[in-house]
Amino acid sequence: MDTHAIFEKERNADAAKQQSINANEKLLEETAAGSVTGIGASSQDWGDSTARSFLPPYVLEEAAKRNPDDTGLWSTYQRTVEMMDEQVKGKFAPRAFGDGRGSREIYDAEGSNSLPGRLARVEGGSRSGDAEVDRAYEYSGIVRDFYKKVFDRNSIDDRGMKMVSTVNFRQDESKAFENAFWNGTQMVYGRPDAASPFKTFILLDVSAHEIAHGVTQKMADFKYYGQSGALNESMSDVFGSLVKQYAKQQTADKADWMIGTGIWKDDVNGRALRDMLNPGTAFDDPRIGKDPQPGHMDKYVKTSGDSGGVHYNSGIPNRAFALFAKAVGGYAWEAPGKIWYEAMQNSGSRPSFASFAHETIEAAKALGQQDKVDTLRRAWAAVGVTPERGAIDTLTPSRRMMEPELHDHAHARVA
Ligand SMILES: [Zn+2]
Repeated sequence: MDTHAIFEKERNADAAKQQSINANEKLLEETAAGSVTGIGASSQDWGDSTARSFLPPYVLEEAAKRNPDDTGLWSTYQRTVEMMDEQVKGKFAPRAFGDGRGSREIYDAEGSNSLPGRLARVEGGSRSGDAEVDRAYEYSGIVRDFYKKVFDRNSIDDRGMKMVSTVNFRQDESKAFENAFWNGTQMVYGRPDAASPFKTFILLDVSAHEIAHGVTQKMADFKYYGQSGALNESMSDVFGSLVKQYAKQQTADKADWMIGTGIWKDDVNGRALRDMLNPGTAFDDPRIGKDPQPGHMDKYVKTSGDSGGVHYNSGIPNRAFALFAKAVGGYAWEAPGKIWYEAMQNSGSRPSFASFAHETIEAAKALGQQDKVDTLRRAWAAVGVTPERGAIDTLTPSRRMMEPELHDHAHARVA
């Protein structure tokens, strides 16, 4: 590419970015006025929580470039980028609501973009006959029961928050919404276009990953940028995988350590969206590109995109957990899961990989698992992380939006 072409490309990227910023500003005003419907919005009050989407922008961008017949992919990519920007500013923020028992409610958006949609199944109700409604019901029940039985946690907020899901969500009549997201209050599942490389988003590990974002947000609120954001992503993969292992009653050596198994159409060369044990090997196909996740600090992705690489660099702590759990053996949701759960609560809101690793060692000691500390150190060493109390993330490009003053300002606007 010659210099002129490079500048032209950058100018176009800047223009697109500015457009996205303008759209975000507009959304911010509308939200303040309480008039937003559709993606990320709900009829609930706005509080202090955030949206998280399953497919990262770089996967959608590659898929959109390579599948021009799929009219929904490009705009799903744009909406996903917007959603991530909103998260950084603390914007998509409906308040939690509940009945104290974590009861399930499944809605059908019937191909529209309004949330929550038509009520299709309630807790204890009979099967709806709609496969997506019934799968969303089953999976959210498994996730709720996992947290109750393993961590004695009463639903997402530990206060019995309702487990609400909407299926069959679209951008509009002409455009599919090809992603799944947690909007701070509920799960939302889009449905792939016929021409899409994606098969479905209603999968147990997708549900568990997204709902775990709700748990992290209530327990730890890891800031969604750079290493604390990558740890936020990694917590969702760790607990997403643990839910799947628990449902199948699998030991660590039998687990597949994949996230998003079954997400790709059968003719796409991909096992899943992510491979926790071997990051960077989950997919490789002309229709979707190649899995870009690193599994070691040597390959750490320095970028200001993807909220500072949250979906790339999560591969590093993911691999540390999988290696640790396999080395310990047995059920990964027992000692390894409890150590991670405890460390998550003690890591503050902006841990680096090194400071989080330190907290896992402290957690192991506090939980009477001193005999596992050497194994834990070896797992972190295998991904190039040296545990260190209070270590700061120095590898992530800074971002204006993350400066405390601006961040607090954004919070103040939604309060
Ligand atoms: Zn996520």
